[in-house]
Amino acid sequence: TDIALEHARHSPQRIATYVQGQDESHQRELQLIRDLPEALQNGQFYVVYQPKVDLKQQQCRSCEALIRWQHPSLGFVPPDQFISLAEHAGSIGLVTQWMLQQVCRQLALWQQQGLQMQVAVNLSVQDLLEPALCQQIAALLAQYQLSAASLALEVTESAIMQDADTIVRQLTALRQQGISLAIDDFGTGQSSLAYLKQLPVHEVKIDRAFVKDIATNSNDALIVSATTQLAHSLGFKVTAEGLEQHSGLSALSQCGCDTVQGYYFAKPLTSDAFVKWQRDFSQSPARWFSGETTL
Ligand code: C2E
Ligand code: MG
Ligand code: MG
Ligand code: MG
Repeated sequence: TDIALEHARHSPQRIATYVQGQDESHQRELQLIRDLPEALQNGQFYVVYQPKVDLKQQQCRSCEALIRWQHPSLGFVPPDQFISLAEHAGSIGLVTQWMLQQVCRQLALWQQQGLQMQVAVNLSVQDLLEPALCQQIAALLAQYQLSAASLALEVTESAIMQDADTIVRQLTALRQQGISLAIDDFGTGQSSLAYLKQLPVHEVKIDRAFVKDIATNSNDALIVSATTQLAHSLGFKVTAEGLEQHSGLSALSQCGCDTVQGYYFAKPLTSDAFVKWQRDFSQSPARWFSGETTL
C-alpha cells in the first residue's frame, strides 16, 4: 500500500485509480458477504469432489468435497475469495451446514448406487466452536442413514491453535461418534507433529507446497519423507496434497505416503464426473501408476 501510494504520489490520476481500485474490491467483498446467505438457497453453489488415491491398494475409496460459487453477475468466485470473508462476517456456519447437507445427500445416493466412498468436508474454526456441531452432524447422518465412517472432516492446524482446549474437546466428541478427522495443509502452520499427537485425528494432509516439486527438489522429498515417518509413528495416516505430475508419484510412494490427492489423478469434479472418473480409474489403475494416462 505504501509503495503504491508512493508511486501514485505525483499523479492525481493514478491516485484516483488506486483509490477506486481499493474501493471496488471493498465493494465486491461487501457484495459477496451480502449475497451469500441467499445464494446458498438459490442454487448458485455446488459441490465438487476430488479423488484421494490409495497408493498401496491402488484404489479410490475417499475424496474431498470442495465448494464452488457461480455468482449471477460476478461469475465464478473461488473459495479462497469468499471462505475467509464468510468467516469474518460470521456466515461460515451457513456454508458448512449447506456443505454437510449436500455431501450427506450425495453419500446416500452413491450408497444406493453401490458406490462406497468416504467424503471429507472442510471445517472452519467457528464451526468447531459451535457447541451444536456434533449433534447437527449426528442428525444428518441419521436422516440419510449413513455410517459415521463415511464422513471425514478437515481442519487446518492454524484453526486448531486458535482455541485449542475447546476445539480438542469438540474433535474428541466427533471422533467418538466415528467420524474421521484430518489436519489440513500440514506444514504451513506453526504446530509440530509432537503437538498434533495430542489431537484425536486420524490423518495428516501434507500441504501442496512440499509436494508439488517433489520429483526435482530433494529438500521437499526429505521433508515429506521425514514428516510421513514421524506421522506414521504417531499413528496418523498421511495424504500428500497437490500432486500435478506423474513424475512425483514414485517419490511419494517411496516417502511412504498412504494417499495422494492432486490434479495428476483428477481435478475436483462434479458428482457425475467423479463417478465416471472413479469407474475409469478402478478399471485400470495401473495405467495411472505407470504414467500412461499422461501420454
Ligand atoms: P484445501 O482444503 O486445502 O483444498 C485443496 C485445494 O487445493 C483445493 O482448492 C483444490 O482444488 C486444490 N488442489 C488440489 N489438487 C491440486 C493440484 O494438484 N494443484 C493445485 N494447484 N491445486 C490443487 P479450492 O477448491 O480452490 O479450495 C481452496 C481452499 O478453500 C481449500 O483448501 C479450503 O481451505 C477452502 N475450502 C474449499 N471448500 C470449502 C468448504 O466447503 N468449506 C470451507 N470451510 N473451506 C473450503
Ligand atoms: Mg481440505
Ligand atoms: Mg489442504
Ligand atoms: Mg488449503
